[in-house]
Amino acid sequence: MVEVTGPTGGRAGERLVVVGAGMAATRLVEGLVAGGYPGRVTVVGEEEHAPYNRILLSAVLEGSHREDALTLRDPAWFADHGIDLRLGTRVAEVDREAGEVVLVDGHRIGWDRLVLATGAIPTLPPIRGLVGLDGRLHESVHAFRSVADCHRLLDRLAEGLPGRSVVVGGGLLGLQVARALAVRGVATEVVEGSTHLLSGQVGEAAGAVLRRDLERLGTDVYTGVRAVRLTPDGLRLDNGVDLPTDLVVLTAGGRPSTALARRAGLMVRRGVVVGRWLESVTDERVHALGDCAERLGRTTGFVAPAWEQAAVLAAHLCRGGEEAGSRVTGGYDGHRAVARLRASGLEVAVLGEPETTPGDVVEVSNPLRGTYRKLVVRGGVIEAATLVGDLSHVGLVTQLFDRRTVLGPAEPGALLMPPTPAVPVELPDDVEVCACAGVTAGAVRACGRLEEVRSRTRATTGCGGCEGVVRTLLAGGEPAGQAVGSTR
Ligand SMILES: Cc1cc2nc3c(=O)[nH]c(=O)nc-3n(C[C@H](O)[C@H](O)[C@H](O)COP(=O)(O)OP(=O)(O)OC[C@H]3O[C@@H](n4cnc5c(N)ncnc54)[C@H](O)[C@@H]3O)c2cc1C
Repeated sequence: MVEVTGPTGGRAGERLVVVGAGMAATRLVEGLVAGGYPGRVTVVGEEEHAPYNRILLSAVLEGSHREDALTLRDPAWFADHGIDLRLGTRVAEVDREAGEVVLVDGHRIGWDRLVLATGAIPTLPPIRGLVGLDGRLHESVHAFRSVADCHRLLDRLAEGLPGRSVVVGGGLLGLQVARALAVRGVATEVVEGSTHLLSGQVGEAAGAVLRRDLERLGTDVYTGVRAVRLTPDGLRLDNGVDLPTDLVVLTAGGRPSTALARRAGLMVRRGVVVGRWLESVTDERVHALGDCAERLGRTTGFVAPAWEQAAVLAAHLCRGGEEAGSRVTGGYDGHRAVARLRASGLEVAVLGEPETTPGDVVEVSNPLRGTYRKLVVRGGVIEAATLVGDLSHVGLVTQLFDRRTVLGPAEPGALLMPPTPAVPVELPDDVEVCACAGVTAGAVRACGRLEEVRSRTRATTGCGGCEGVVRTLLAGGEPAGQAVGSTR
């Protein structure tokens, strides 16, 4: 008979097993350490590499970052904090009856509480010839989700630059990989089935700015067409065009990795269905977070919500999570969807769901400078936003969005105008400057150096998009911004 503890925080001495050692799991463990979690923690990760920042893989591919700069926490950090980290080991099954996970080698680890942080797996587009009779990807075809994928691509580039490459999928990963290959000097083409680039997050106008940006690097973009067949000469599109290529990178999206949860009898729709404390609706002893979790009908796929969920769960397991004034009070409601996309020279931030949220649209586009900004406003409140090419106002916009600040009729327009260096306004201490780690300007100012900001707050360690603002704040300057609005 298994004791069910319920979603009421962790008990002293309980055994907590985390499946997956990715970005959400690492953030959770950091929160457990900081919060003095009273139980014993084991983390099981399938990849050999110490937990790393997946977002920066394209920077390694491009050659602007060394691989060791990706490590979030090295194994010694886990050991120093009494965490049992097992890398290069996959959990094959979850046995809820016995309260154990079964590793691929048959070894079992007991748990009183289990966290699934298994991330997402790339989807294979329906292209004939991608997979050989042996079930393996054709030698010219690569995925791009892990350090191992990145190594394979780098090895391929080291053998001699491919004449031409095709990136299948014009979403976040596609943009990152296409830019990295272009920077490496590989002639690259992008094939995207929908009408524009990054169609899951932004509208056509922003997609056009992104397209122009890629084309400026010499990359050709084909939208509204699908690759249907890999031939000895290249990739055939459904409009009959053949793209000669000797390297194909698949970046056509991913789906939550839920096979373990399904087999364990937990409720899974697109992701593992969880309540406000990230507990499975089937079994309160089991939690899920990050790319594999589904809350209120939504899965996420970005690091900011994954880290917010990790903060909520860590606080819940350490203290019951109901601290007054805490960002996590009330659990995770999935409302605050913020995505920052990182690729060299490319800045994109999406708050909420700008393409589907009803409201008045205020937008400014300057394709010549590669910038696009859009706010969806209802009743004076920013309900959603897209910022492309210039994120100098992202801190303020995020704060106004988060707090549902009521703006006057001129303010949304003023917010979208380029920064005015003549009138720098001090960012209030409570303005959030790092969306990934939820760090405010005040918390940055309280640190002396960038390294201190990184270790104390984790700002700049996610997508890295806030680094410019953080450096300016540390230097005693102020990022351009405008003080607007009144809080409801
Ligand atoms: C190339 C790339 C670029 C990205 N760029 C951005 C960006 O710019 N901005 C942004 O917000 N997001 C970006 N993302 C998405 C972001 O990385 C994810 O949202 C984030 O990593 C989610 O964290 P996670 O812990 O849920 O999943 P992951 O970080 O994917 O970690 C899951 C881990 O679980 C392991 N695992 C799975 N099953 C098992 C098992 N059975 N046993 C043991 N281990 C297992 C996996 O091997 C993996 O290491 C990017 C993703 C990729 C791949």
